[in-house]
Amino acid sequence: MTTSFAPGTIALVGAGPGDPDLLTLRALRAIRSADVIVLDRLIGQGILDLIPDTAQRIDAGKEGFGPSTPQAQIHAAMIGAARDGARVVRLKSGDPGIFGRLEEELDALDAAGIAWQIVPGLTAASAAAATLGQPLTARGRNGALTILTGHDVQGFADQDWRGLARPGAVAAIYMGKAASRYLQGRLMMHGAPPDTPVTLVENASRPDQRIHAATLATLPATAQLCSGPAVILWGLAPRAALSALPAALEA
Ligand code: SAH
Repeated sequence: MTTSFAPGTIALVGAGPGDPDLLTLRALRAIRSADVIVLDRLIGQGILDLIPDTAQRIDAGKEGFGPSTPQAQIHAAMIGAARDGARVVRLKSGDPGIFGRLEEELDALDAAGIAWQIVPGLTAASAAAATLGQPLTARGRNGALTILTGHDVQGFADQDWRGLARPGAVAAIYMGKAASRYLQGRLMMHGAPPDTPVTLVENASRPDQRIHAATLATLPATAQLCSGPAVILWGLAPRAALSALPAALEA
């Protein structure tokens, strides 16, 4: 690690969207030097395979609307291991600072007096947009990108729907499958045309990745086709010329 990873400290590490190739070198170094790794549910197999046999794994699966490990239990596990002198990696999917409950974990670590560092990661929206051949911002199209979650319906209600309904607006919606009908209703109510493109990217960067091109009109039906984690890219369609590119850009 560029910054040192001392025993008794915690690194909150972004694992990226799933493909191990999209890990940062710093994340890889942290994983390789960890004594204890506390895992999220969405960490893909390719990344789990990089965890050394000597490291203790603690599963702290968290799932929207489903079974999850209570946050306090996750804090206690991390703090206990760090107090025992372990180098602890708290591995989170994507970027730990995007819908990763990072603030709660940092508060708990500060309260316990445990030193920590954050290792940023590639967020799902970046990987999803890249597979569409689309930039997340484009001159003359959108100078702002909205990142929102459909999980927290209260926060969802406060969004600037009028802004999102304007031509060219782009948003990346995380955990939005279950809220897709609500999303559709809000956007239509604020005047977004039913044929506005919206693309769902499921399992972005993983071997089972699927791209579902839809429109505002077909969004709820399309969301039902996704069984894995999906990011909804509002205002983006797959770039038409993409199919003309070489199939693989492999090293
Ligand atoms: N910190 C993560 C987001 C965690 S919230 C990040 O920065 O990417 C979990 C949500 O992220 C999922 O419900 C889904 O909307 C999205 N997500 C995570 N990994 C994904 C992937 N590989 N493909 C598509 N969406 C993904």
